[in-house]
Amino acid sequence: MRNVVILGTGCAGNTAAIYAARANLKPLVFEGHEPGGQLSITTEVENFPGFPEGIQGPELVENMKKQAQRFGAEYRHGRVVEANLRQRPFTLKLEDGEVFETRTLIVATGASARWLNLPNEQKLIGYGVSSCATCDGFFFRDKQIMVIGGGDSAMEEANFLTRFGRQVMLVHRREAFRASKIMLERVKNNPKIELVLNTIVEDIYDVEKGHVTGVKLRNIVTNEVTERPVDGFFVAIGHIPNTLPFVGQLDLDPDGYILSHGGARTNIAGVFHAGDVQDRTYRQAITAAGAGCMAAIEAERFLEAEGD
Ligand code: NAP
Repeated sequence: MRNVVILGTGCAGNTAAIYAARANLKPLVFEGHEPGGQLSITTEVENFPGFPEGIQGPELVENMKKQAQRFGAEYRHGRVVEANLRQRPFTLKLEDGEVFETRTLIVATGASARWLNLPNEQKLIGYGVSSCATCDGFFFRDKQIMVIGGGDSAMEEANFLTRFGRQVMLVHRREAFRASKIMLERVKNNPKIELVLNTIVEDIYDVEKGHVTGVKLRNIVTNEVTERPVDGFFVAIGHIPNTLPFVGQLDLDPDGYILSHGGARTNIAGVFHAGDVQDRTYRQAITAAGAGCMAAIEAERFLEAEGD
């Protein structure tokens, strides 16, 4: 049986691992289906304190992992698909059926890309449809690219993709943006980006070619329908929290985010939350790291109070 199991290896999970390992709790960390979390598919991180010149997301998260391993954290591949938090020790079941027991649990499973749910969308992932510019931008050198969304992710992706694409269309369903001013300004000042506002995507075409060839757009103010040729279609419309194994056990809000019961505590004593799986307000690398630290400290105190 483990003292602490940490689910997730984004900023939150890795920071929790550093703190729990330094407290001599020998945490076991499951990497989940997206090792490194959202930072592993981002480009330059300019706002993480301590890096005046910025740092690449994957490097930052890899450094955190190495730091946790230096103090004895054990990392394992695998994703928890079932959890029994109704009795202690808690039990966790992996995809391959292996079961683990733990006295405390830190849920830092983050959030995964949200999709538009268009008829062809899932079928064309990897064939022109993507949620990760860093991963797939390279395939669209001199091609026509479209990015969907009006938040910082969409701005970041659109800017990044101008390195590759002939032109990038940024399609957003409103006129106002959720993105920060600085990110929006960069987009507006980028001559390779065309802003298409008040517009939704109604269909992605593949004309039986097996890859994206174009899209059908509707302007929701004028109702005008247009068709645009597109090779790369990048969806950047936010995320969905990864809480499926905990439904019916942890208190969740209507969108599936964990509800905090003060600090890093959940409704179940001994189960703590960290990062984007609970935070729908700040969602930054640094706030996730802070939350990971809080969760590990809470776990340590919880075990101590139990007489360890
Ligand atoms: P977000 O801020 O929630 O923005 C999502 C965008 O997608 C919104 O503009 C939203 O439109 C649009 N959208 C949602 N569902 C849609 C749908 N079904 N169809 C069309 N459009 C849809 O998400 P995010 O951009 O991923 O950012 C998440 C957090 O990470 C934010 O806190 C952000 O600041 C942070 N972040 C920071 C950086 C950075 O600083 N370098 C980079 C990336 C992300 P509406 O506005 O109309 O709702």
